[in-house]
Amino acid sequence: MPSAAPAPGKSSPDDLAASGADRPLAYLFLDFNAYFASVEQHDHPELMGRPVIVTPLNSEYTSAIAASYEARPYGIKRGTRVRDAREMCPDIAVMPARHDRYVAVHKLLMKEIERHIPLEKVYSIDEAAFRLSRSEHDPARAVATARRVKQGIAENVGPALRASVGLAPSRLLAKLAAERVKPDGLTVIEAKDLPHKLADMTLTDIPGVGAGVAKRLEKAGVDNFLKLWNLQPKQARAIWGSVMGERFWYGLHGFETVEEPTKKSMIGHSRVLTREHETPDKARIVARALLLKAASRLRHYGLFASSLSFSARLRPEGGWETARRFSHSQDSFLFLKTLDEMWEVFLTRQRREGPMPRIGGVTVYLHGLSKPGETALDQLDLFAEPAHAQTDSRRADLWKAVDAVNADLDAKFRRLGASSGEAKRYISLASQSGLALNYLGAKIAFSRVPEEAEFLY
Ligand SMILES: [Mg+2]
Repeated sequence: MPSAAPAPGKSSPDDLAASGADRPLAYLFLDFNAYFASVEQHDHPELMGRPVIVTPLNSEYTSAIAASYEARPYGIKRGTRVRDAREMCPDIAVMPARHDRYVAVHKLLMKEIERHIPLEKVYSIDEAAFRLSRSEHDPARAVATARRVKQGIAENVGPALRASVGLAPSRLLAKLAAERVKPDGLTVIEAKDLPHKLADMTLTDIPGVGAGVAKRLEKAGVDNFLKLWNLQPKQARAIWGSVMGERFWYGLHGFETVEEPTKKSMIGHSRVLTREHETPDKARIVARALLLKAASRLRHYGLFASSLSFSARLRPEGGWETARRFSHSQDSFLFLKTLDEMWEVFLTRQRREGPMPRIGGVTVYLHGLSKPGETALDQLDLFAEPAHAQTDSRRADLWKAVDAVNADLDAKFRRLGASSGEAKRYISLASQSGLALNYLGAKIAFSRVPEEAEFLY
């Protein structure tokens, strides 16, 4: 799975960590600063350079969901109550959120940046990773590209929309680099800079180290960045309790994983849950729908999966994740049954720990992907199932037929002038409908960028 890592057996993780030549700068990560507040300043030039907060509602009895950098010296930040903010800074501009506008500006920004550098992945409405070319592996050229991107944004979109940029060998490291200097930063982390350049990082500030993982790290005696760095991939896997630990290890050490269709390592989906879906019953329906979607894509690529991972984000904090293996399969029934089993374990454990928390998001991934006749493509899949169990081939055929019917219906609806989203609503199971983000109820911290259509509800 790690594109730059040598084949297993040729080199130990120790060797990999020792040299940096095999991990050139490969990603540019861009994190817009105080994004919602910046869009308000962009749209209202009289607010440029002024303290601004954005609120979810037009009300004095709510809290800021974004604060411009000019508001921060007053002690105002995300979460500050509007009334407190007015006391701390009588001059503060209080702007109610306009999510559709933030999505529209996001699209303008991506379009501008893609003139300079290809997009790898949008992480959220104000964060995205881009791919550096081979010639930009040279730090001076990568930095020149980053400056061109910043200049392009300022000139062609607007100077209010500042971003912190990180350049690094992996997306995780590039994101950590972007975090280093705010606002308007530009930070390079090369493999040779590690681990000392990040030695001061607080573990819970690292994406991938949630509250649950942090607790398990602490139990394992890992209480600072150097100790985290010195873990072996297998230890990381044990602490995380899933292959995600190893994926994290590789990202942290500057190895990137590939997600191209022909060499997929995992297929999955993630969803932030709105208030009405944060109960266990509703969240389970969402997780099942995401899994069915992933299984359909799996069959589309002609791939088999040999494990399933599930994670839930909890509100107000924390999370839970687990993974299970099975014989290579394309069968959605098997996947759903496996998810149900994991879900039961999840519920049992949560009930033991006290009142059921609200579920803020669910993620499902099919891993250990392979094609018939090939060895597992997922090099991190240490399950090493030797052969394909084709016992479920009849069921897989059934699911392929279901996929075909769905695709056919989708095409027909589109011919009738319905958008793909509308078509999907027609053919989705009743229990799976109504999953779209609700405009008023939408959580502000999108983990993905919503389509404009989702704001029509
Ligand atoms: Mg940001």
